[in-house]
Amino acid sequence: MKLHEYQSKQIFSRNGIPIPQGRLASTPIEAKQVAEELGLPVVLKAQVLVGGRGKAGGISLVKTPDEAEEEASKILGNKIKGLPIRNLLVEKAINIRQEIYFGITNDRLAGKPIMIASGEGGVDIEKIACTRPDKIIKVHINPLLGLRDFQVRGIATEINLQRENWRKFLQIGKGLWQVFCDIDATLAEINPLVVTNEGHLFAIDGKITIDDNALFRQRDLIDMRDLSAESPEEIKARKFDLSYIRLSGNIGCLVNGAGLAMATMDNIKICGGEPANFLDIGGGASSEKVSAALKIILSDPNIKTVLINIFGGITRCDEVARGILTALGNNNRNVPMVIRLVGTNAEEGKKLLLDGNQITANTLFEAAQLAVQTAKGVKA
Ligand code: GDP
Ligand code: MN
Repeated sequence: MKLHEYQSKQIFSRNGIPIPQGRLASTPIEAKQVAEELGLPVVLKAQVLVGGRGKAGGISLVKTPDEAEEEASKILGNKIKGLPIRNLLVEKAINIRQEIYFGITNDRLAGKPIMIASGEGGVDIEKIACTRPDKIIKVHINPLLGLRDFQVRGIATEINLQRENWRKFLQIGKGLWQVFCDIDATLAEINPLVVTNEGHLFAIDGKITIDDNALFRQRDLIDMRDLSAESPEEIKARKFDLSYIRLSGNIGCLVNGAGLAMATMDNIKICGGEPANFLDIGGGASSEKVSAALKIILSDPNIKTVLINIFGGITRCDEVARGILTALGNNNRNVPMVIRLVGTNAEEGKKLLLDGNQITANTLFEAAQLAVQTAKGVKA
């Protein structure tokens, strides 16, 4: 789950990270009012859940109240990368001497959080990471010891931060780590953290991503969720407790178990096909879940065939087969299904499916081959 810039900044501010004064506005008139209250110049910032807003025209520095209203109406009427702009963050403009990148994320290979910083932050940070990787400083954080002061001071030296700002930088670094831990973030990022001409530090952009698997214990953050950036299928899937991720291929996958779902997708790839989605229906395979999952998969117009791969452990395969057949009753698009059941009562299950005129397979590889053939229009 991603947070908007204004939400991230609220959290930053509560953790001792200085942010510019500002307020949210949802209409041009309101933007003008806020601008007058704050005092000009102000910056208008589109609140959408994607990066690169500056380059897409979503950030505007304005000098008069009228200009604020005019620019606000332009930005609010626009979209960025397909997403509607419902709110603007209006902030007191900050003069900038230096832009710093400062963030924490998980380094999955190392199995540790990693603090990343650069003295050349700002909108071109990705380019700098590619062309001048030596300008990007990375420090692993031991999750048991936490972030140590000397690590942040080390970073301050590496990015040539003036000594007078070290204390503030340390406070910001510790605040960022606090945020990262407290709200189960997978990313807490300030880009840019700016040094002003007067030598002050401000986080003028903020980005936080929270681990969806931790939302159960982050109750007060759930209300911050903005569903407008998520696909309707993914929202529906969450309602049924299914993990669904749409991909670009044409073979739908309906599998119980995340590992099995990955293996299923790998096999489709090996056989020369392209999976249309990742879908894990979780333990058991009740007919309601199968049927909800199938509906979500079939809502993708690219689907040519669906591979159902179910391992029946406690759930018996004959029960699963009945569930699938009921669910298939609603398959009004006549998309062919390739079904593989394995586990308890697999034979009985398979017989039921064959009686129901379904294509079945014994092994995962065979199922993948059949699915790829049917998707290509070769009769199985
Ligand atoms: P992003 O493009 O989505 O990352 O949006 P940012 O909030 O990072 O803004 C992009 C760029 O706009 C920053 O890197 C700054 O150079 C500039 N910018 C943003 N806020 C201010 C401000 O208050 N004053 C000035 N002078 N520039 C700003
Ligand atoms: Mn930014």
